[in-house]
Amino acid sequence: MAEKRDYYEVLGVSRDASKGVIGSAYRKLAIKYHPDSNPDDEQAVEKFKEAAEAYEVLSDEEKRAKYDQYGHAGLGGGGGPQFSSVEDIFEAFGGMFGGGGGGGIFDSLFGGGSRRQERSRRGADIRCDVVLDLEEAAAGCSKEVQVSRNALCKSCDGSGAAPGAVRESCARCGGRGQVVQSAGILRVQTTCPACQGSGSTVANPCTDCRGDGVVPEQTEIKVNIPAGVDDGTRVRISGQGEVSPQGGATGDCYCFIRVREHKVFERHDDHLIVRVPLTYAQFVLGAEVDVPTLEGMKSVTIPPGTQSGEIFRVRGAGVSNVHTGRKGDLLVETKVEIPSRISSEQEELLRKLAELEETEVAPERKSWLDSIKDFFSGTEEEG
Ligand SMILES: [Zn+2]
Ligand SMILES: [Zn+2]
Repeated sequence: MAEKRDYYEVLGVSRDASKGVIGSAYRKLAIKYHPDSNPDDEQAVEKFKEAAEAYEVLSDEEKRAKYDQYGHAGLGGGGGPQFSSVEDIFEAFGGMFGGGGGGGIFDSLFGGGSRRQERSRRGADIRCDVVLDLEEAAAGCSKEVQVSRNALCKSCDGSGAAPGAVRESCARCGGRGQVVQSAGILRVQTTCPACQGSGSTVANPCTDCRGDGVVPEQTEIKVNIPAGVDDGTRVRISGQGEVSPQGGATGDCYCFIRVREHKVFERHDDHLIVRVPLTYAQFVLGAEVDVPTLEGMKSVTIPPGTQSGEIFRVRGAGVSNVHTGRKGDLLVETKVEIPSRISSEQEELLRKLAELEETEVAPERKSWLDSIKDFFSGTEEEG
Protein backbone atom coordinates (compact mmCIF):
# COMPACT_ATOMS: atom_id res chain seq x y z
CA MET A 1 0.00 0.00 0.00
CA ALA A 2 1.20 3.47 -0.82
CA GLU A 3 2.47 5.79 1.89
CA LYS A 4 -0.36 7.55 3.69
CA ARG A 5 -0.68 11.12 2.56
CA ASP A 6 -0.64 14.02 4.97
CA TYR A 7 -4.20 14.91 5.94
CA TYR A 8 -3.66 18.64 5.41
CA GLU A 9 -2.29 17.88 1.96
CA VAL A 10 -5.28 15.65 1.20
CA LEU A 11 -7.70 18.46 1.98
CA GLY A 12 -5.37 21.10 0.49
CA VAL A 13 -5.45 23.30 3.56
CA SER A 14 -2.73 24.88 5.68
CA ARG A 15 -1.78 23.40 9.04
CA ASP A 16 -3.43 26.25 10.90
CA ALA A 17 -6.67 26.08 8.90
CA SER A 18 -9.82 26.79 10.89
CA LYS A 19 -12.59 24.25 11.32
CA GLY A 20 -14.65 26.15 8.78
CA VAL A 21 -11.91 26.03 6.15
CA ILE A 22 -11.41 22.31 6.76
CA GLY A 23 -15.13 21.65 6.44
CA SER A 24 -15.51 23.53 3.18
CA ALA A 25 -12.38 21.92 1.73
CA TYR A 26 -13.82 18.50 2.52
CA ARG A 27 -17.21 19.45 1.08
CA LYS A 28 -15.60 20.42 -2.22
CA LEU A 29 -13.65 17.17 -2.43
CA ALA A 30 -16.69 15.12 -1.43
CA ILE A 31 -18.65 16.61 -4.31
CA LYS A 32 -15.79 16.23 -6.76
CA TYR A 33 -15.09 12.58 -5.96
CA HIS A 34 -18.60 11.50 -5.07
CA PRO A 35 -19.16 7.99 -6.46
CA ASP A 36 -22.40 9.05 -8.15
CA SER A 37 -20.60 11.51 -10.35
CA ASN A 38 -17.67 9.16 -10.95
CA PRO A 39 -19.36 5.85 -11.77
CA ASP A 40 -16.98 2.86 -11.87
CA ASP A 41 -14.01 5.04 -11.02
CA GLU A 42 -12.08 3.20 -8.31
CA GLN A 43 -9.62 6.04 -8.01
CA ALA A 44 -12.37 8.50 -7.25
CA VAL A 45 -13.73 6.19 -4.55
CA GLU A 46 -10.27 6.05 -2.98
CA LYS A 47 -9.99 9.83 -3.08
CA PHE A 48 -13.45 10.12 -1.58
CA LYS A 49 -12.46 7.82 1.28
CA GLU A 50 -9.15 9.56 1.77
CA ALA A 51 -10.85 12.95 2.07
CA ALA A 52 -13.41 11.58 4.53
CA GLU A 53 -10.65 10.11 6.66
CA ALA A 54 -8.70 13.37 6.68
CA TYR A 55 -11.84 15.29 7.56
CA GLU A 56 -12.77 12.89 10.35
CA VAL A 57 -9.40 13.51 12.01
CA LEU A 58 -8.91 17.20 11.36
CA SER A 59 -12.45 18.17 12.34
CA ASP A 60 -12.01 16.57 15.75
CA GLU A 61 -9.92 18.78 18.02
CA GLU A 62 -8.52 15.92 20.07
CA LYS A 63 -7.61 13.75 17.07
CA ARG A 64 -6.20 16.74 15.24
CA ALA A 65 -3.92 17.59 18.18
CA LYS A 66 -2.65 14.00 18.27
CA TYR A 67 -2.13 13.99 14.54
CA ASP A 68 -0.26 17.31 14.69
CA GLN A 69 2.05 15.96 17.34
CA TYR A 70 2.65 12.38 16.23
CA GLY A 71 1.41 12.14 12.66
CA HIS A 72 -0.48 9.06 11.52
CA ALA A 73 1.20 7.02 14.26
CA GLY A 74 -0.53 9.14 16.90
CA LEU A 75 -3.93 7.83 15.86
CA GLY A 76 -3.20 4.21 16.67
CA GLY A 77 -3.89 1.09 14.63
CA GLY A 78 -3.57 1.69 10.91
CA GLY A 79 -3.42 5.42 11.41
CA GLY A 80 -6.69 7.28 11.14
CA PRO A 81 -10.19 5.93 10.85
CA GLN A 82 -10.56 3.38 8.07
CA PHE A 83 -13.68 3.68 6.03
CA SER A 84 -14.22 0.40 4.29
CA SER A 85 -17.08 1.59 2.14
CA VAL A 86 -18.76 4.69 0.86
CA GLU A 87 -21.80 3.76 2.98
CA ASP A 88 -19.58 4.01 6.06
CA ILE A 89 -18.75 7.56 5.16
CA PHE A 90 -22.39 8.46 4.78
CA GLU A 91 -23.10 6.85 8.08
CA ALA A 92 -20.39 8.94 9.70
CA PHE A 93 -20.96 12.23 7.95
CA GLY A 94 -24.39 11.85 6.37
CA GLY A 95 -25.85 14.15 9.00
CA MET A 96 -23.69 17.00 7.82
CA PHE A 97 -25.15 16.91 4.35
CA GLY A 98 -28.69 17.44 5.47
CA GLY A 99 -31.50 15.51 6.99
CA GLY A 100 -31.97 18.14 9.64
CA GLY A 101 -35.11 19.19 7.84
CA GLY A 102 -35.68 22.24 5.69
CA GLY A 103 -33.18 24.27 3.77
CA GLY A 104 -30.64 23.35 1.20
CA ILE A 105 -28.71 20.16 1.51
CA PHE A 106 -25.64 21.79 2.98
CA ASP A 107 -27.48 23.98 5.44
CA SER A 108 -26.71 21.76 8.34
CA LEU A 109 -23.11 21.28 7.31
CA PHE A 110 -21.79 22.96 10.41
CA GLY A 111 -25.01 23.02 12.31
CA GLY A 112 -23.86 20.34 14.72
CA GLY A 113 -26.26 17.52 15.30
CA SER A 114 -25.34 13.98 16.05
CA ARG A 115 -22.94 12.80 13.41
CA ARG A 116 -23.28 9.17 14.27
CA GLN A 117 -27.01 9.01 14.64
CA GLU A 118 -27.34 5.77 12.72
CA ARG A 119 -24.71 4.03 14.77
CA SER A 120 -26.29 5.02 18.04
CA ARG A 121 -29.12 2.59 17.50
CA ARG A 122 -27.30 0.33 19.89
CA GLY A 123 -28.15 1.31 23.47
CA ALA A 124 -25.64 3.57 25.18
CA ASP A 125 -22.94 2.25 27.50
CA ILE A 126 -23.10 3.32 31.12
CA ARG A 127 -20.53 3.41 33.90
CA CYS A 128 -20.57 2.49 37.54
CA ASP A 129 -17.94 2.67 40.27
CA VAL A 130 -16.95 0.15 42.89
CA VAL A 131 -14.57 0.58 45.82
CA LEU A 132 -12.96 -2.60 47.12
CA ASP A 133 -10.64 -3.66 49.91
CA LEU A 134 -7.41 -5.26 48.83
CA GLU A 135 -8.67 -8.63 50.07
CA GLU A 136 -11.78 -8.36 47.84
CA ALA A 137 -9.74 -7.25 44.83
CA ALA A 138 -7.28 -10.10 45.30
CA ALA A 139 -9.85 -12.84 45.80
CA GLY A 140 -12.51 -11.53 43.42
CA CYS A 141 -16.03 -10.85 44.62
CA SER A 142 -19.56 -10.06 43.62
CA LYS A 143 -21.10 -6.63 44.32
CA GLU A 144 -24.51 -5.05 44.00
CA VAL A 145 -24.11 -1.66 42.34
CA GLN A 146 -26.61 1.17 41.86
CA VAL A 147 -26.89 2.40 38.28
CA SER A 148 -29.10 4.89 36.43
CA ARG A 149 -29.97 4.04 32.87
CA ASN A 150 -32.70 4.10 30.28
CA ALA A 151 -34.85 0.99 30.44
CA LEU A 152 -37.63 -0.28 28.24
CA CYS A 153 -40.92 1.50 29.03
CA LYS A 154 -43.15 -1.14 30.59
CA SER A 155 -46.40 0.70 29.77
CA CYS A 156 -45.88 0.35 26.04
CA ASP A 157 -43.30 -2.43 26.08
CA GLY A 158 -40.94 -0.14 24.25
CA SER A 159 -43.24 0.56 21.32
CA GLY A 160 -43.79 4.19 22.31
CA ALA A 161 -47.46 3.85 21.41
CA ALA A 162 -50.38 4.53 23.78
CA PRO A 163 -52.59 1.53 24.61
CA GLY A 164 -54.58 0.61 21.55
CA ALA A 165 -52.47 2.77 19.28
CA VAL A 166 -50.08 1.12 16.88
CA ARG A 167 -46.90 2.27 15.30
CA GLU A 168 -47.23 2.90 11.63
CA SER A 169 -44.62 2.68 8.99
CA CYS A 170 -43.08 6.12 8.57
CA ALA A 171 -44.63 7.86 5.61
CA ARG A 172 -41.56 9.97 4.91
CA CYS A 173 -39.04 7.17 4.54
CA GLY A 174 -41.40 4.28 3.84
CA GLY A 175 -40.11 2.46 6.92
CA ARG A 176 -36.48 2.44 5.87
CA GLY A 177 -35.35 4.91 8.52
CA GLN A 178 -33.18 6.56 5.89
CA VAL A 179 -33.95 9.16 3.30
CA VAL A 180 -32.01 10.03 0.20
CA GLN A 181 -31.67 13.68 -0.54
CA SER A 182 -30.28 14.88 -3.80
CA ALA A 183 -29.16 18.10 -5.32
CA GLY A 184 -27.40 18.20 -8.63
CA ILE A 185 -24.79 15.49 -8.78
CA LEU A 186 -24.84 14.76 -5.08
CA ARG A 187 -27.14 12.19 -3.54
CA VAL A 188 -26.83 11.63 0.14
CA GLN A 189 -28.51 9.13 2.39
CA THR A 190 -29.33 10.37 5.87
CA THR A 191 -31.36 9.44 8.91
CA CYS A 192 -35.04 10.08 8.35
CA PRO A 193 -35.88 13.28 10.25
CA ALA A 194 -39.53 12.24 10.70
CA CYS A 195 -38.88 9.00 12.60
CA GLN A 196 -35.24 9.53 13.74
CA GLY A 197 -34.28 6.38 11.92
CA SER A 198 -36.72 4.01 13.59
CA GLY A 199 -38.78 3.56 10.41
CA SER A 200 -42.11 4.03 12.16
CA THR A 201 -44.14 6.76 13.80
CA VAL A 202 -47.05 6.79 16.21
CA ALA A 203 -49.89 9.29 16.19
CA ASN A 204 -50.90 8.59 19.79
CA PRO A 205 -47.72 8.24 21.85
CA CYS A 206 -47.42 6.46 25.19
CA THR A 207 -47.78 9.02 27.99
CA ASP A 208 -45.23 7.37 30.30
CA CYS A 209 -42.32 7.61 27.90
CA ARG A 210 -43.76 10.29 25.57
CA GLY A 211 -43.25 7.93 22.67
CA ASP A 212 -39.57 7.28 23.34
CA GLY A 213 -40.14 3.66 24.30
CA VAL A 214 -37.62 4.08 27.11
CA VAL A 215 -37.78 5.58 30.60
CA PRO A 216 -34.98 6.41 33.04
CA GLU A 217 -34.58 3.93 35.87
CA GLN A 218 -32.47 3.50 39.01
CA THR A 219 -31.63 -0.09 39.58
CA GLU A 220 -29.17 -2.43 41.21
CA ILE A 221 -27.05 -4.73 39.12
CA LYS A 222 -24.77 -7.51 40.19
CA VAL A 223 -21.14 -7.10 39.21
CA ASN A 224 -18.87 -10.13 39.27
CA ILE A 225 -15.35 -8.88 39.87
CA PRO A 226 -12.59 -11.27 38.84
CA ALA A 227 -9.71 -12.05 41.20
CA GLY A 228 -6.67 -9.83 40.79
CA VAL A 229 -8.29 -6.53 39.73
CA ASP A 230 -6.29 -3.47 40.67
CA ASP A 231 -7.01 0.17 41.24
CA GLY A 232 -8.08 1.57 37.86
CA THR A 233 -9.18 -1.75 36.35
CA ARG A 234 -12.32 -1.51 34.20
CA VAL A 235 -14.71 -4.47 34.15
CA ARG A 236 -17.26 -4.72 31.34
CA ILE A 237 -20.67 -6.09 32.19
CA SER A 238 -22.13 -7.02 28.86
CA GLY A 239 -25.72 -6.04 28.14
CA GLN A 240 -26.25 -4.04 31.35
CA GLY A 241 -26.21 -0.62 29.71
CA GLU A 242 -29.15 1.25 28.23
CA VAL A 243 -31.72 -0.41 26.02
CA SER A 244 -31.88 0.80 22.46
CA PRO A 245 -35.00 2.83 21.71
CA GLN A 246 -34.93 1.43 18.18
CA GLY A 247 -34.71 -2.23 19.04
CA GLY A 248 -30.94 -2.46 18.65
CA ALA A 249 -28.58 -4.24 21.02
CA THR A 250 -28.48 -3.14 24.65
CA GLY A 251 -25.36 -1.23 25.67
CA ASP A 252 -22.79 -2.39 28.21
CA CYS A 253 -21.96 -1.24 31.69
CA TYR A 254 -18.34 -0.44 32.49
CA CYS A 255 -17.45 -0.86 36.11
CA PHE A 256 -14.48 1.22 37.28
CA ILE A 257 -12.61 -0.34 40.20
CA ARG A 258 -10.97 1.58 43.04
CA VAL A 259 -8.99 -0.31 45.64
CA ARG A 260 -8.59 1.18 49.12
CA GLU A 261 -5.13 1.51 50.59
CA HIS A 262 -4.30 -1.36 52.90
CA LYS A 263 -2.93 -0.90 56.42
CA VAL A 264 -0.40 -3.71 56.10
CA PHE A 265 0.24 -4.43 52.43
CA GLU A 266 1.40 -2.20 49.66
CA ARG A 267 0.60 -3.48 46.19
CA HIS A 268 3.00 -3.29 43.25
CA ASP A 269 1.32 -4.91 40.24
CA ASP A 270 0.83 -8.51 41.34
CA HIS A 271 3.34 -8.32 44.19
CA LEU A 272 2.61 -7.32 47.75
CA ILE A 273 5.10 -5.61 50.00
CA VAL A 274 4.99 -5.98 53.77
CA ARG A 275 7.41 -4.22 56.14
CA VAL A 276 8.51 -6.29 59.12
CA PRO A 277 10.26 -4.69 62.11
CA LEU A 278 13.04 -6.80 63.65
CA THR A 279 15.41 -6.21 66.53
CA TYR A 280 19.15 -5.76 66.24
CA ALA A 281 19.60 -9.20 67.79
CA GLN A 282 17.33 -10.81 65.18
CA PHE A 283 19.32 -9.22 62.37
CA VAL A 284 22.60 -10.40 63.87
CA LEU A 285 21.59 -13.85 65.07
CA GLY A 286 18.88 -14.70 62.55
CA ALA A 287 15.29 -15.66 63.38
CA GLU A 288 12.12 -17.42 62.30
CA VAL A 289 9.47 -14.71 62.12
CA ASP A 290 5.76 -14.85 61.37
CA VAL A 291 4.76 -12.44 58.61
CA PRO A 292 1.22 -11.63 57.48
CA THR A 293 0.00 -12.77 54.05
CA LEU A 294 -3.48 -12.44 52.54
CA GLU A 295 -4.04 -16.06 53.62
CA GLY A 296 -2.87 -15.68 57.21
CA MET A 297 0.50 -15.75 58.95
CA LYS A 298 3.46 -17.45 57.34
CA SER A 299 6.84 -18.27 58.84
CA VAL A 300 9.86 -16.69 57.15
CA THR A 301 13.50 -17.46 57.92
CA ILE A 302 15.73 -14.47 58.52
CA PRO A 303 19.31 -15.73 58.22
CA PRO A 304 22.04 -14.54 60.62
CA GLY A 305 23.79 -11.41 59.47
CA THR A 306 20.82 -9.95 57.62
CA GLN A 307 21.17 -6.25 56.81
CA SER A 308 18.46 -3.75 57.59
CA GLY A 309 16.28 -3.19 54.51
CA GLU A 310 17.05 -6.61 53.01
CA ILE A 311 14.04 -8.07 51.19
CA PHE A 312 12.88 -11.70 51.37
CA ARG A 313 10.57 -13.11 48.73
CA VAL A 314 7.71 -15.48 49.52
CA ARG A 315 6.85 -16.90 46.09
CA GLY A 316 3.19 -17.06 45.16
CA ALA A 317 1.96 -15.15 48.21
CA GLY A 318 1.05 -12.07 46.19
CA VAL A 319 -2.05 -11.37 44.09
CA SER A 320 -3.26 -13.40 41.09
CA ASN A 321 -2.81 -11.68 37.78
CA VAL A 322 -6.29 -10.72 36.55
CA HIS A 323 -5.51 -11.95 33.02
CA THR A 324 -3.21 -14.94 33.48
CA GLY A 325 -4.16 -16.04 36.99
CA ARG A 326 -0.47 -16.33 37.82
CA LYS A 327 0.30 -15.32 41.38
CA GLY A 328 2.73 -12.59 42.30
CA ASP A 329 5.04 -12.74 45.32
CA LEU A 330 5.07 -11.33 48.81
CA LEU A 331 8.12 -9.16 49.40
CA VAL A 332 9.11 -9.04 53.05
CA GLU A 333 11.07 -5.86 53.69
CA THR A 334 13.01 -5.89 56.94
CA LYS A 335 13.65 -2.83 59.08
CA VAL A 336 15.32 -2.33 62.44
CA GLU A 337 13.07 -1.45 65.27
CA ILE A 338 14.72 0.54 68.05
CA PRO A 339 13.00 0.12 71.42
CA SER A 340 12.09 3.46 72.96
CA ARG A 341 12.30 2.01 76.46
CA ILE A 342 14.57 -0.76 77.78
CA SER A 343 15.04 -2.47 81.15
CA SER A 344 18.11 -1.80 83.30
CA GLU A 345 19.29 -5.33 82.54
CA GLN A 346 19.07 -4.66 78.79
CA GLU A 347 20.91 -1.41 79.27
CA GLU A 348 23.67 -3.15 81.22
CA LEU A 349 24.14 -5.72 78.46
CA LEU A 350 24.12 -3.12 75.73
CA ARG A 351 26.73 -1.08 77.56
CA LYS A 352 28.87 -4.19 77.84
CA LEU A 353 28.39 -4.81 74.13
CA ALA A 354 29.41 -1.26 73.30
CA GLU A 355 32.47 -1.69 75.47
CA LEU A 356 33.40 -4.90 73.63
CA GLU A 357 32.83 -3.22 70.29
CA GLU A 358 34.80 -0.22 71.52
CA THR A 359 31.91 1.98 70.47
CA GLU A 360 31.53 5.44 71.93
CA VAL A 361 28.14 5.69 73.72
CA ALA A 362 26.55 8.46 75.79
CA PRO A 363 27.28 8.13 79.55
CA GLU A 364 24.65 6.73 81.88
CA ARG A 365 22.15 9.38 82.88
CA LYS A 366 19.23 9.71 85.18
CA SER A 367 15.92 10.00 83.48
CA TRP A 368 14.63 13.50 82.90
CA LEU A 369 11.81 12.90 85.37
CA ASP A 370 14.21 11.77 88.09
CA SER A 371 16.36 14.86 87.53
CA ILE A 372 13.31 17.09 88.01
CA LYS A 373 12.40 15.24 91.21
CA ASP A 374 15.96 15.67 92.50
CA PHE A 375 15.87 19.37 91.64
CA PHE A 376 12.73 20.02 93.68
CA SER A 377 13.76 17.96 96.70
CA GLY A 378 17.10 19.82 96.80
CA THR A 379 19.19 16.69 96.60
CA GLU A 380 21.10 17.91 93.62
CA GLU A 381 23.94 15.61 92.71
CA GLU A 382 27.35 17.01 93.41
CA GLY A 383 29.16 17.51 90.18
ZN1 LIG B 1 -44.01 3.97 26.84
ZN1 LIG C 1 -38.91 7.80 8.62
